[in-house]
Order: sequence, then C-alpha cells, then structure tokens
Amino acid sequence: MSFAYRNGVLCAERISLQTIARRFGTPCYVYSRREIEHNYGEFTRALVGRDALVCYSVKANCNLAVLALLSRLGAGFDIVSGGELARVRAAGGDPRKVVFSGVGKSEAEIAQALRARILCLNVESEPELLRVAAVARRLGIRAPIAFRVNPDIDARTHPYIATGLKGSKFGVPYAQAERLYRKAVRLRDVELIGIGCHIGSQMRVPDPLADAVRRIAALATRLADAGIPLRHIDIGGGMGIRYRKERVAPIGRFVARCLKALGTRPEALILDPGRSIVGSAGVLLTRVEYVKRTARKRFLVVDAAMNDFLRPALYGAWHDVVAVRKSRRRPALYDVVGPVCESGDFLAQRRTLAAGEGDLLAVKSAGAYGMVLSSNYNSRPRAAEVLVDGREARLVRRRERAETLYAGELVPRW
Ligand SMILES: *Cc1c(COP(=O)(O)O)cnc(C)c1O
Repeated sequence: MSFAYRNGVLCAERISLQTIARRFGTPCYVYSRREIEHNYGEFTRALVGRDALVCYSVKANCNLAVLALLSRLGAGFDIVSGGELARVRAAGGDPRKVVFSGVGKSEAEIAQALRARILCLNVESEPELLRVAAVARRLGIRAPIAFRVNPDIDARTHPYIATGLKGSKFGVPYAQAERLYRKAVRLRDVELIGIGCHIGSQMRVPDPLADAVRRIAALATRLADAGIPLRHIDIGGGMGIRYRKERVAPIGRFVARCLKALGTRPEALILDPGRSIVGSAGVLLTRVEYVKRTARKRFLVVDAAMNDFLRPALYGAWHDVVAVRKSRRRPALYDVVGPVCESGDFLAQRRTLAAGEGDLLAVKSAGAYGMVLSSNYNSRPRAAEVLVDGREARLVRRRERAETLYAGELVPRW
C-alpha cells in the first residue's frame, strides 16, 4: 500500500523512489510514516477497551524520528540497553512508559533506568535481582520490577530468533519463577509489579504466543493466590510479517488470541512488538553499479552491501528485490550482491530481474532489523535514512562520511 508503482515507478506514499535517490543518494533507507502509523494502529484497534500499553521494541529500528513518531501516537518503549534509553529520551519518549529487558544489564544501566523512573525492569536472573536491589538501595529509589519468565515454548521460527525454549539464555526458567517471586517480595528495595515473556521473533501463527500467554497467566494466578498480586502482564512481541509469499496471521488475530488466553486476568497488558510495526514500513534503496557475468552466474553488483543490510547474510532471510522503474530490459536470473569482500555478501540470490547498470533497486520490508544491524565493515560509511509523509521526504539520518569512521581513533606517538 505505502510502497506501490505509479506510472511504472515505485513510490513511497506519494513520492517516487527515483526522486528520493536523486535528492539523498544511495544506498538509502526509506520509511513510510503512514505505514508505521497503520501498523501501530492495528495493535491499538485490537486492544480497544482493554487496559494495555504497546511498548515499541526500539532495537527493531531506533531512528529518533521513528521513536518520536511512535511516542506522539502514545506508544511506550521496550529497550535492551542504556543507549536505547538515551535514544528514547532524546526522541521525547516518556520514561514512565519504558520497560527494560535483557540478560546483561550493567550497574550503570540499572542506575540510569532507575534515575529516569522507567516503568519496569524485566529481570532475567537471580543475580540480576540482587544487583537491581543493591543499586536501588544505593540510590534510595525502589525499583519497579517484573521477572521475564521463559515459558519453554517453541516459537517455531529461525533458531537465532527463538528465545522461549529451555536451552535459551533469556528469562528465568518457568520452574524457578515462583521461588524468585517469593524471594523478591521480601526485598524492600524492589517493588514487584509485573511478569513478562518474549518467546521469539517472526512468528507466523499466534498459537505459540497464545500458549506462552496461557502459561504466564497461570503463573500470575498462582502468584495472586499466594498473596503476590501484579499490575501487568507483558507478553512480548514477535508477531511476524510477510517477507515472501508465506502466510502470516494479521496483528489483530495475534492480539485477539492473546486476549483470549489471558481470560479474565485483571492485570494490565503490555505488548512489545518491533518488526510488525516497522518491518513493512521500510525499503532499502540501492543502485546497480555493474552487471557482471561469469561462466556460471550473472550478478547485479549494487552499492548496498551486507554492512548496510545483514539479514540475508545472517539468517539467509528472503527479501523481495524489485526494480524501481519498470523497464523493457530483458529479465534474467541474478544474484544481487554488494561490494563487501565476503562471499556471504548478498542481498538476494537467484532472482529474476529486469535491471542494468545505473538502475535503482528496492529491497522490500527492510524497515526492521535493517539499519540497526548495519556496520562500517570494509570502512563503508552508513547509509542515509529518509522518512516519507505523503509528498514530503525528510532526511532523518545523514549519510556517514569517511572522516566520521575514524574520528574516535588515536595513533600513539611511540
Ligand atoms: C526483540 C524483542 C522484542 C521485539 O521482537 P519483534 O520480533 O521485533 O516483535 C520484544 N520484546 C523483547 C524482550 C525483545 O527482546
């Protein structure tokens, strides 16, 4: 919808990607405001009448303009580092709507979060509980906490992004959770306010999530019966999006199934989706540098590489790649590769494309886990980011320059 062809040219909302490439150069991430708002709205519409907070998962796409947009819509934020908390605050986000997950929070990060008066720290181990209590005591601030519980549910997704199985580093084991709650409730420096889980990413059906919610809700019931009532249940994120032609349940179905699994539990609901809000809202715009033929293959060598967009190399992820302008060139089978010196440096393999030197390509559904996973490998400056609103396109991150790559480096004078 937000990325569609008009007169044979792919557009972001009302502006052509050719115009954007001319103004901002390539490679360039292009995001659609309308699409982000639409996806966020899918959650809020499905949650009408329920005490709920959607905490956008910052790690999916942490550009300040994206955070500011979601903040103005009323979103909270799910963060996994002190750096992300700084971003949320710089974007004008409300710390009182921030939940902080992650297995390795440092003392400095815990202190930063407590001073900012965030909504909740999602504690992922017993040693972390003791550390949070100690930092809270030192600061004289009672720490609002939840345990992130590992419900031992298979999210049936890529093993790198499944987080809810017994062998996972995430969350406290389900079997230990009650004991930890009983221990934490006796600590004066923490306030037990919730329980949470997050079982994995890119789930295509709601069943594993609903199973996890049922297990967490059962635990909340037992805790309430034991005199440990909680204020919220955080069911995590992980709702999938459509990258290829796979079937993916709509957001409304995920939410409805979770609400059903919660039954009549009175706690407020927190969700922390990332990919499903921003994934479909971005494309990576890149230009063909060379068409290269070998005895075995044809390559489109483009100006974006694995350092700009890692998902294909990291997960073997499929992203549709399309020519920005429909042409009469002869279609052929190509590998779309970047300039980085790695054989794993591809954006797509074995794709039929009608494109040649100088043409623009768009890598679709690149709004989540795209720019955030970029690096400077091969000393390549990071791409620009642009946010489109109707006919307007705004630069929301400048393209890096070579000098910024080594600005922090020092050469010792031996
Ligand atoms: C990454 C993460 C999310 C978001 O996952 P998506 O698959 O992008 O929706 C939510 N909660 C936690 C705790 C996470 O670590």
